[in-house]
Amino acid sequence: MILLDYIVNLSIFSLLVSVPLVIRSFINHRPLKQIGLLAGIYAGIVSVILVMLSFQQDGYSYDIRYAPVILIFAYLGPAAGIITGVFSLLARLFSSGQWEAAIIGWTIIMVSFSVIHLFIKRLSSVKRSLLLFGTYLLIYIITVPIIFNVFRNQPYFHYQYLLFVLLGVLIGVLIIESYVKLHRLNNRLSDMYKMVEESEAKYRLIAENTSDLIMVMDREHSLSYFSPSHEIVLGFQSSELEKMKLCKFIHPDDVCRFKDTIESMFEKPESKSFEFRLQHKEGHWIEFESRCMPVKGENQTIEHIVTISRDISERKKAEEILLQSEKLSIVGELAAGVAHEIRNPLTTIKGFMQLYKWENGSDEINDLLLSELNRIETITSEMLSLGKPQAVHHHQTDLRDLLENTLELLSPQAHLNDIQFNLSVKEPAVFITCEKNQLKQVFLNILKNAMEAMPDGGNIDIDLVTKEDRECILSFRDEGSGIPEEILPRLGEPFYTLKEKGTGLGLMICNKIIKQHNGTITYHSKPQEGTTVEIRLPLMNPIKEASSI
Ligand code: ADP
Ligand code: MG
Repeated sequence: MILLDYIVNLSIFSLLVSVPLVIRSFINHRPLKQIGLLAGIYAGIVSVILVMLSFQQDGYSYDIRYAPVILIFAYLGPAAGIITGVFSLLARLFSSGQWEAAIIGWTIIMVSFSVIHLFIKRLSSVKRSLLLFGTYLLIYIITVPIIFNVFRNQPYFHYQYLLFVLLGVLIGVLIIESYVKLHRLNNRLSDMYKMVEESEAKYRLIAENTSDLIMVMDREHSLSYFSPSHEIVLGFQSSELEKMKLCKFIHPDDVCRFKDTIESMFEKPESKSFEFRLQHKEGHWIEFESRCMPVKGENQTIEHIVTISRDISERKKAEEILLQSEKLSIVGELAAGVAHEIRNPLTTIKGFMQLYKWENGSDEINDLLLSELNRIETITSEMLSLGKPQAVHHHQTDLRDLLENTLELLSPQAHLNDIQFNLSVKEPAVFITCEKNQLKQVFLNILKNAMEAMPDGGNIDIDLVTKEDRECILSFRDEGSGIPEEILPRLGEPFYTLKEKGTGLGLMICNKIIKQHNGTITYHSKPQEGTTVEIRLPLMNPIKEASSI
């Protein structure tokens, strides 16, 4: 049964082609090209086996020994192809007679394949296999039936044989191509794995070796990741942190702000920065500056918020020192004015005391004496409180009160320079949460600048209004020399001053303090007309429940 022989031959051939490829895919995935000569020898052995499996048809033996020869020529070139060819020829010579025809046919095929290979080098292996088979077909037709006159009048005999070889070539091509494709896919996959691993290692290296705190928060406000730096910076073990709620170690004054910021980011996706304090395991508070970035998920909604926080304790200390030095310079300057002003009420007291003595006293005089004495007391105590370093405590404060106190502190100097303060506040009281001394420092700096801009005296209007129960707007308007437009953007830069004895720190400190209070400060000015400094501050928030963080 020729069909059965066909099937047995082709099955064994496919098995022999597949086995080394499958084994190689388990060992390593080097491209086929790198094993050229070895593959030539193996294919040679395969062609020997195919000769051994040959079957007789009309006295001639059928085998597909040329299928591996064509494949090796196509995939690995003439050197490996000729090795396979030699094996196949030897097998053929040992198995049957008619050596002359076999050797002539073999030589023509080897020479033609080698020459043709030069021209088809650039084509794909599949095309090369088909072209080489075509060449083989041509040589076979010319030599076997035409030159050697084998069964010239039985074309069916030749069709069958050529189809047999063609099937061998096609099966070989299919198996090798699937292996090559698999090999490429595997290479691409391992490259991708390598890339992913490398990039993950890179990010892990950064995340795990930075002193910044990196945390990722999900929609439910629970932490899905926190960097190991938390252990070093906050002193807690990872296992402890995993169990704790974030609000446990955020400062109670900052919890609301933190929660509000995070919640607003889930609604409006924009990055935000803020400062807050976290508690170290040993109990002390550390100040952090945080940058929060919203991260969108697949359906374009915010899924996570990445927060990177940096310990700014050292920077805060430096700022504190700067603030202190600016305060001291103001205290020094004020001292002269205050001393001068103290002398006046003292003279009055002295005069009336003498009069009291002389006239044996009256209640009116007593009152006046007391009020003047109070005035001295207020001014000196304010000066002392400004000079002393103070701990930062945010309190509910009446801005109106604070403004009045500040104006009183500056009134001696204003008096000397013929300057009038006009305070206008519509509300009886305007409450905000603030650090009293810091805000007083801001008002002092702004008013001092205004006074310095008005050497010939004039009015300084101070207005305080509230807006939609949300914020208050505080404006200081002077009639001084004004600020040229090109200088306005530079206000607040450290050490930027136009004064001979200026420090250029006043407005920088103002900007900083107002920012810390979540407010804004803007400057409007026209040369020779005056300057308006506008401060917006949030009004006191109703206490919010923060336990959900
Ligand atoms: P300093 O007062 O030590 O110069 P500041 O930071 O307080 O430093 O102010 C920076 C500069 O801004 C001042 O030198 C001044 O030129 C300008 N400036 C600030 N406020 C006013 C004002 N009200 N009128 C005119 N110029 C001002
Ligand atoms: Mg100043």
